Amino acid sequence: MGIELKNVYKKFGDFKALDDVSLKVDDGELLALLGPSGSGKTTLLRVVAGLDFFDEGQVLFSGRDAQNQKARERGVGFVFQHYALFRHMTVFDNIAFGLNVQPRKTRPSRQEIRAKVMELLKLVQLEWLAERYPWQLSGGQRQRIALARALAVRPKVLLLDEPFGSLDAQVRKELRAWLRRFHDEFHITTIFVTHDQEEALEVADRIVVMNKGRIEQAGTPEDVYHNPVNAFVLSFLGNVNFFHCRLEEGKAVIGNTTLEVPGLSVDKPQPAKLYVRPNQFKVSRVFSKAAFKAVVEYVNPAGTIVKINLKTESGERIYVEITQEELKQLKIRKQEKVYVSLKDVSYSEYVKDNS
Ligand code: ATP
Repeated sequence: MGIELKNVYKKFGDFKALDDVSLKVDDGELLALLGPSGSGKTTLLRVVAGLDFFDEGQVLFSGRDAQNQKARERGVGFVFQHYALFRHMTVFDNIAFGLNVQPRKTRPSRQEIRAKVMELLKLVQLEWLAERYPWQLSGGQRQRIALARALAVRPKVLLLDEPFGSLDAQVRKELRAWLRRFHDEFHITTIFVTHDQEEALEVADRIVVMNKGRIEQAGTPEDVYHNPVNAFVLSFLGNVNFFHCRLEEGKAVIGNTTLEVPGLSVDKPQPAKLYVRPNQFKVSRVFSKAAFKAVVEYVNPAGTIVKINLKTESGERIYVEITQEELKQLKIRKQEKVYVSLKDVSYSEYVKDNS
């Protein structure tokens, strides 16, 4: 089921929670809504679900206006961060609930419901928990049961609002991978809300970055990460170092230092803001005029990459990431002097020249 939003506005009083949002979700797509707290992600999800009205615009399901369709008629299944499973029901009964409450005419037989629930438990790999109660489950197991419950009524669309938000890092990672595999197998159109950029980059087919009720950018994880349309998207999708500078052909002048920027082409020298990802620096012990002279403040080699905090001669603080191999060769330690040049930059924007 494809979904389309056309110029949707949603206000709470004077506050615009959704401000001219247009978005197409393709049939079978796994889309992440990513953005800071209060950017409108949940509101957008609720509008798609038919749980909230909106003030202007259109929401289309498979090309048809969904305005008059209630949540149930839209065929959506939900999982929320704190999805309260029914405490007094077993896991089995929780999953069966949506089927048991169907009108007699459409309700499957008891045997069919049993078979369906067991099939879903197998799918979420928790068959052995059928007779447990929600309070006897771990957080990760509860979320998977919530997903099984949402799937029981064969939704055409799955809406997941921070489904793994309250879980610890390891369980989150496992469930992320599981969700990706699940989606690859069943291709249910899925929109999931997260404020965790790593989660969005890892799981989604496409990411929609939201800010203040508006869509800043929509694209594949690769696209939004490597070709951000603005500094907000850039900094929301990972660590970045920011400098005021003057850009010249192939060069960035930052304070007293002139750094070479490979491939940089400018119309005329002008003041700019420069954004550099931590892995876009080259750290060396060999003197170079086209490099920051800096002191190592902190080296953290624990992990797949090495994290380094540096302070330049002119007091700029830089966060750099290098590989373990590079660290082996450099053998740098705290308080040592190094030279830091640019391999590349992520993004730059010109600022008005007041001089
Ligand atoms: P979070 O990541 O914190 O869940 P979000 O991006 O999902 O945030 P929303 O829940 O969509 O954000 O809220 C968007 C804005 O709308 C927020 O500023 C919020 O305070 C406001 N808002 C949401 N629901 C209501 C409401 N019922 N009444 C008034 N304001 C609301």
